Amino acid sequence: MSSQIVVIGGGVMGSALAYWLTRLEPASAVTVVERDPSYSSASSALSAASIRQQFSAPINVRISQASIAFLRNASAELSLDEERPDILLREHGYLYLAGVDGAAHLRRTHSVHKACGSDVALLDQTGLRQRFDWLNTADLAVGSLGLSGEGWFDGYALLTAFARKARRQGARFVKGAVSALQLEGKRVAAVILSDGVRIGCSHVINAAGPWARRVAAMAGVELPVFARRRTVYVIACPARMNPFPLTIDPTGFWIRPEGPKFIAGLAPDDDTDDEPLQPDYDAFESRLWPALAHRIPAFEAAKLERAWAGYFEMNTFDHNAILGPHESVQNFFFMNGFSGHGMQQAPIVGRAIAELVLYGRFTTLDLSELSFARISDNRPLREANVIG
Ligand SMILES: Cc1cc2nc3c(=O)[nH]c(=O)nc-3n(C[C@H](O)[C@H](O)[C@H](O)COP(=O)(O)OP(=O)(O)OC[C@H]3O[C@@H](n4cnc5c(N)ncnc54)[C@H](O)[C@@H]3O)c2cc1C
Repeated sequence: MSSQIVVIGGGVMGSALAYWLTRLEPASAVTVVERDPSYSSASSALSAASIRQQFSAPINVRISQASIAFLRNASAELSLDEERPDILLREHGYLYLAGVDGAAHLRRTHSVHKACGSDVALLDQTGLRQRFDWLNTADLAVGSLGLSGEGWFDGYALLTAFARKARRQGARFVKGAVSALQLEGKRVAAVILSDGVRIGCSHVINAAGPWARRVAAMAGVELPVFARRRTVYVIACPARMNPFPLTIDPTGFWIRPEGPKFIAGLAPDDDTDDEPLQPDYDAFESRLWPALAHRIPAFEAAKLERAWAGYFEMNTFDHNAILGPHESVQNFFFMNGFSGHGMQQAPIVGRAIAELVLYGRFTTLDLSELSFARISDNRPLREANVIG
């Protein structure tokens, strides 16, 4: 049997994994198979690439704490000789808003963040008004503001920095579409590409993002991950509003600055699978703009400049990552189902899966709560704070 570790998908997850495998064990033989090296529809290239501590599940808070530490140091960690990648990390915080109805939930999750040691502050209506004079606080009861460790960065730059460094450390990136997995007993013996090429393997990792369910099915594994379209709207607004954290409205929309403009989004009313990646312009007019103008009156004068759409890889079981091997196919590992928070988790999940593959256990952060077994055992670990 080949000692080759084969990673299916070269997005931020597959590339982060290839980086960590070759960093932890420089002699390991790693092949990343990516069908579209231009990443034209990969989530990693279409992401809003923001990072927050404010999750409801403590395990996600712990991942974010480790991840922000990595991101702050990414330029040195992922440098190639003199070339230091700049992922443009901006720590301008997240601001979760709630009216009377949502206040209890916000207070509850705030106490989770505090217990985990995150740097967050709870603001009442007056506190919100004092800090953010551009916000309509009339129907707000409370806001939870991240004071550090939250913000946004250039996700594509992170992806390419991981991939380049992984290559430098010896990982091989192959252009090809995986069309089948060849099983021998309870193991995957080889990965088969659509042009017939066969790559023997010791381990296979499913890093196929929104297409992960199809790859899982190649080994007879049912994975509850679905491609759900999300539109990102680029908006110009003449008013100057500072500071402006990534703001999440009680209606569900999110908005944050992007250079001199803003980007925003909201979950669709009707969340169906595999919609073509065309932006939903109607939703801007009918749902987003009215809610935006209500919350931030300066946006009455805003102008939609353009929009793009990408897929959330939605885990419909519990909206959390599904990590590690599947019990029925022992050398088949999963890093899927991030439900809109995978970009920020990639540095830590990549390291964690590398540990599992190389050492058979987590050696830094224990992510066993996110293992596949919880699905087979019907023990959901629900993440309540899913955005968009
Ligand atoms: C609009 C939007 C906003 C987002 N905002 C955020 C955010 O603010 N913060 C955050 O943390 N996350 C965010 N996310 C989520 C985040 O971008 C994803 O969780 C993350 O990029 C997933 O990375 P991935 O490598 O698993 O998937 P992808 O980047 O999709 O990569 C999967 C790769 O697998 C390849 N592939 C699939 N099938 C095969 C096959 N059979 N053979 C070979 N190759 C294959 C694909 O071509 C693709 O390149 C957002 C996502 C979207 C779409």
